Amino acid sequence: MKNVPVNASKKYEIFIGAGILSKAGEIIMSACGGETAAIITDDIVNDLYADTVEHSLKSAGYKTVVRYVFPNGEQSKTTETYVSILNTLAEANLSRSDVVIALGGGIPGDIAGFAAATYLRGIHFVQIPTTLLAMVDSSVGGKTAVNLSSGKNQVGAFYQPDAVICDVEALKTLSVNIFRDGCAEMIKQAVISDSELFELLKKPIEPQIEDIIARNVTIKRDIVQIDERDTGIRQLLNFGHTIGHGIEKSSNYKVSHGEAVAIGMSIAGRGAWRMGFCDHACYSEIVEMLKHYKLPYETDVPAKKIFETAFSDKKRNGQQITEVIPEKIGKCKLHTFSLKELEEFIKLGMEN
Ligand code: NAD
Repeated sequence: MKNVPVNASKKYEIFIGAGILSKAGEIIMSACGGETAAIITDDIVNDLYADTVEHSLKSAGYKTVVRYVFPNGEQSKTTETYVSILNTLAEANLSRSDVVIALGGGIPGDIAGFAAATYLRGIHFVQIPTTLLAMVDSSVGGKTAVNLSSGKNQVGAFYQPDAVICDVEALKTLSVNIFRDGCAEMIKQAVISDSELFELLKKPIEPQIEDIIARNVTIKRDIVQIDERDTGIRQLLNFGHTIGHGIEKSSNYKVSHGEAVAIGMSIAGRGAWRMGFCDHACYSEIVEMLKHYKLPYETDVPAKKIFETAFSDKKRNGQQITEVIPEKIGKCKLHTFSLKELEEFIKLGMEN
């Protein structure tokens, strides 16, 4: 088992290993204590893993384990689910010394995290991510949220967990598409700050999965420790995301988040090369890596439509938008474009 310590507004550890779900109770008892634990999960993950976690919590000494299960998918990431979770916690009389556990992908992580951040003004919280995306990205860094009808993640809080437990065995039950979404985020993290990770990703990842996840969370940890509240350097983690968000939204979410980020990285890479921020090799290495993971790198969505959606994005700051630009593999920078320049950047990134 590997441990990655995080020293943000809260100190905690990320545990990565094979088969460690059965040790979750011990880890959680030692990190949080308490008498009651609430597992928040979706229906698919509930059937696969919640019994193991519940058994482990009881063996570790939790007297009561309650469960809240919601239908899997983004349509559940609502204020209604959030309020319903709060009511479950209140009915089970959880006190501030008890613990909320998010079990599942980024969606249980984000909703349960927001409930934990706000119930009794903050209660112990543990993340047990079971998708690759959640292990390498969403479970680390303390962003929690639910969606409003006007947009994704519009209500939330920065709230660090007390521990994160990544059991790599859980990745074996993921569908190929959902696994691939996580691969897009790993490629992103390698491009923004770790050329050695980029090289490792060229080799088969299964035999080195624990190392690769540890490396990814270390990248995110290092960024979050400097800029927990996302006002500066943390924006580097948005590489491919502004353009990707435009594609995701324009396709009515038929293009998945990971696929959209992959295309966004390719367009940003090509735009960066054509505007002279990086050389051609940097752009082509990104595309070759996306091909290697069978991720898309092109889209039929017109540049203008992507631009218009990016313009309405929350990352907009007055009449300027900050975009993440690759300079070479392992090094990106933030660059502020005027709207006109951004439109040109996207156009250049899509033109032959
Ligand atoms: P998800 O939680 O919906 O998981 C995707 C699907 O995989 C679901 O159907 C789920 O039931 C299933 N699943 C989960 N684990 C499984 C397993 N081990 N085996 C089989 N099936 C499994 O979504 P996601 O892709 O993990 O995360 C996307 C969400 O994360 C979005 O809402 C996004 O906004 C959020 N996100 C948050 C952050 C952050 O920093 N908080 C960062 C990135 C993304």
